[in-house]
Amino acid sequence: MDEVERGLRIAELNEELSEAKRLTPISLAARIEELGFSCLRCGECCRGEDNSVLVFPREVRRICAAAGLAWLEVAGPPEDGEWGRDGSFHTLEWRLKKDGESCRFYQEGRCSIYMDRPLLCRTYPFYLDRGELMHSECRGLGRRIDPGEAEKIAKVLISRQITEIEEAISLMEIYQDFDRGDPEERRGKGGITVHDSEGEHRIVGGELRISE
Ligand code: SF4
Repeated sequence: MDEVERGLRIAELNEELSEAKRLTPISLAARIEELGFSCLRCGECCRGEDNSVLVFPREVRRICAAAGLAWLEVAGPPEDGEWGRDGSFHTLEWRLKKDGESCRFYQEGRCSIYMDRPLLCRTYPFYLDRGELMHSECRGLGRRIDPGEAEKIAKVLISRQITEIEEAISLMEIYQDFDRGDPEERRGKGGITVHDSEGEHRIVGGELRISE
């Protein structure tokens, strides 16, 4: 992506951010009430191979502080990414660590970081697509929801949408491209780089280094 494309993308994201900031919880809450939702505490969204929770750097830091864990004990890079010619692996996201097929924080049938869980977990099964309410599969949908609870979810959904766009803008502003190519026998020998809203987090030999 050249500088012109980067500038255009940032302008688009700023437009999306303005739209997100104009969203009001009232109509969103009414839509949530219409769909209906009650969490059954079944834990299905916290376990199983489909469990993959996107988490932002600011959320990782909060969970680290709350749980007394190091960054790489909380989150790691996903498997999807691209290879650099020097054998480095590059990705743009962090995911919560798993223990087998479950989120590592799903313990004894409950979330052990409930008060500090990521925005994605706070709003599941709902998400916004440019202000449009969408939802993932969930057995709790279609059940009566208290209006106050629907409004609470609507507020967090708006805050999640704003955070997602702000994170994308910060990433675009500081992203540094790399020399792509399949390094074949050097695969994995150049460490892992996660490009995120804080700069570049490099993982080398299991250790985390941050360069902004
Ligand atoms: S952080 Fe908590 S709510 Fe989110 S997937 Fe893990 S156990 Fe479930």
